[in-house]
This record gives sequence, C-alpha cells and structure tokens, in this order.
Amino acid sequence: MKLRCQSVGEIDSRSGALGGGADLGPRRNRLYQTSTMAALLDAVYDGETTLDELLMHGNFGLGTFNALDGEMIVNDSVIHQFRADGQAGRVPGSLKTPFACVTFFQPEKEYVIDTPCDKEGFEEIVNRLVDNPNLFAAVRFTGLFEKVETRTVFCQCHPYPPMLEVVSRQPTMQLGSSSGTMLGFRTPPYMQGVNVAGYHLHFLTEDGRRGGHVTDYRVKQGRLEVGIISDVEIQLPRTEQFAKANLTPENIHEAIRVAEGG
Ligand SMILES: [Zn+2]
Repeated sequence: MKLRCQSVGEIDSRSGALGGGADLGPRRNRLYQTSTMAALLDAVYDGETTLDELLMHGNFGLGTFNALDGEMIVNDSVIHQFRADGQAGRVPGSLKTPFACVTFFQPEKEYVIDTPCDKEGFEEIVNRLVDNPNLFAAVRFTGLFEKVETRTVFCQCHPYPPMLEVVSRQPTMQLGSSSGTMLGFRTPPYMQGVNVAGYHLHFLTEDGRRGGHVTDYRVKQGRLEVGIISDVEIQLPRTEQFAKANLTPENIHEAIRVAEGG
C-alpha cells in the first residue's frame, strides 16, 4: 500500500527575505553546471573546475570529484565528500570536479511534510509545487527519514572504465531511521544527457558522517524547500578527454537510468 504525503501548510516565500539577510542578487536559483552527464557516462572523470571556483557559483548542490572519488553534496556553502571506503568529510578547495551542479539556493516554496511518504509521493509534492515540468527545480528536504538508500562511486585509475562498469561495482548503503538533509535538482526531460532528467538527489546525515547519491528513500517528517530555476550556465571542459567523448550515445536514457539508479 502506498502512503500519500499530506500538507499541513504551504508557504509561498517568494517575497520573503533569504535567511541570514544575504543579498545574492541575480544569481539566486541560477544553475551552474560543470561538464555534462553524458561526458561522465563516457568516463570523462577529470575536470578543470576547483571546488573553490564552484563555490563562487553556488552554495547548494551536488556532483562528484576528479577520478570519480566519491559523491559530493554542497549545503550552506560546505562541500562534503563521501567516499566508497566510508570516509566522509570536508575537502580542500583545490580539489577539482568533473561534474557538479550548484546554485545559490533561495527557497520560493516551503512545505511541511508530516505524514511518511515514499519517493513517488515526495516527487509528486515537488511537482505540484513546481507545476512547470519544463523548468529546473532545486529541492531540499530537512528532517527525519524512515529509510535512505545511497550509493557512493569508487575512485578510478587510468585507463578509466565507463561509468556503467563503475556503478555495477558500487557500494550501497542502507540507513534506517535517521535525520539529515536530502537535496538536489529536478531536471526537465529535454535536458537528458546534459544533466539527469528527473530527480537527482544526494543525502547527508545530520552529523555529516554518512551520505551519498540517493537511490531510494522514505521521508517521515520535515521541511521541504523548493526553488525554481530558469537560468542555467554550463561550463564545458576544454580537455582532450571531453573533445573525444561520445556525448550522443544511442542508449543514453537507459544508461542514465542504470547509472543514477532511478
Ligand atoms: Zn548523484
């Protein structure tokens, strides 16, 4: 039986001030992306953008690190790295990323979830809050989870194997009852390959020790915040690897579904 989420209140905070009084100007809810998902699938695992540079474009987001060395989550300007060996923590700003998406997050809609719901129910709520399927959305849920399933990619050595080989060996983690933050993006279908069409979410426990790329979950209760993104900047690599990559493979939809665990 599927449980549905119920709202106890919805706040349109579009006109409200951003927490902390920060004036982020025109960059609010503008997506900044390095490279493309298709490039990552084709083993372009080394990028040129440092984490310090990434933070100049956003304080919220997700991605991975050069050599595919773990999953990245950016929350309130802090970048966390979750490695396949279980190590977690903050990272030096000189590290680089081959694929990341960040934004200066300003919630435009807030919603209190007080009835447990699964992935499908959660996505339904966000889709209702952002009723334009052709725009991106930044999504953050903070609260209690009944379960979270995550995976973390392995650091790779040259010659790099394709992403689908990597994910077939990836370690997964199952967390039961826990509290933390799940955040990421909803990407419109026509951007498949450039990004991940649909929902791409990463998770961070409240103590910052565990997390990764989310493959499944049930939220229990907490606060959902959503920002609508209509402004997108994509930084494409000038590397030889990117120049040689096949970015229009025939099986792109299936490859991304398998790679992202959706
Ligand atoms: Zn991910």
